[in-house]
Amino acid sequence: MTVQGMQPNHSNHPGELDQPVYVVDTHIHLDLYEPGQTAALEQSLESPELEYVVAVSMGLESGRRTKTWAERYPGRVLPAYGFHPEQTLPSEAELASLLAWMDAHAEAMIAVGEVGLPYYMRQEALEQGRPFERQPYLELLEPMVKRAAAWDKPIVLHAVYDDAPLVIDLLERFSVKKAHFHWFKGDARTVEHMARNGYFISFTPDIAYEEEIQTLARRYPVEQVMTETDGPWPFEGSWAGQVTLPTMVHAVAGAWARIHAMDIGEAAVLLRNNARCCYGV
Ligand SMILES: [Zn+2]
Repeated sequence: MTVQGMQPNHSNHPGELDQPVYVVDTHIHLDLYEPGQTAALEQSLESPELEYVVAVSMGLESGRRTKTWAERYPGRVLPAYGFHPEQTLPSEAELASLLAWMDAHAEAMIAVGEVGLPYYMRQEALEQGRPFERQPYLELLEPMVKRAAAWDKPIVLHAVYDDAPLVIDLLERFSVKKAHFHWFKGDARTVEHMARNGYFISFTPDIAYEEEIQTLARRYPVEQVMTETDGPWPFEGSWAGQVTLPTMVHAVAGAWARIHAMDIGEAAVLLRNNARCCYGV
């Protein structure tokens, strides 16, 4: 028989006070850290309150290095392989090698990624008056989307502003449901479309100081958001000059909780469950 009131710290809300707050970094580039940053990165990865990270890659060589991290931290570093769009297109032979390597490692991958469209490269080209063709990047994205569909794995997307609707079209064409638009930014109509389709987005530490991101955080369904760092990408605000580490997602969860006037423990449990829904772990 249990007696009410005999467990003073017990709460019906898991994650409050009596339980550690677990967080997940759903987007990080482990292979892009400098050798001098490795010790700090390892310490952060080994933190007992960090449950796991989704380690995305840039291409084949990056994928190989990410795989090494995943082998060193089984269950804690979950690798994703793909081709980051903000770089020169691969040659046909390079793409064939990458796709063959992804096919060979399909089982070990948590997701396909990072893939998407080169918004920032295109902007830079347009600002400098240079032509820029988006079509070849869309063609590169197609075999990635097809693989996510065939393997029933999530796809990690770099697709912001006016690139996002094109990517949504592709996802819908291949019936891909588990999509994660990391560090998303875009117009209200696209945001609504993504929310309706059940896509996930994730917030980086800039949720603490970027109004555009805070507005998005208010607007997006709380069951479809996650935390990330996009490390080693550097941040401003109280993180200026600091190495971006996976444990910084605690602060992301805290900032998101404040926006929703939620208890941090409650928010962390919700964000962690959302990552489970998206990534299946
Ligand atoms: Zn990234």
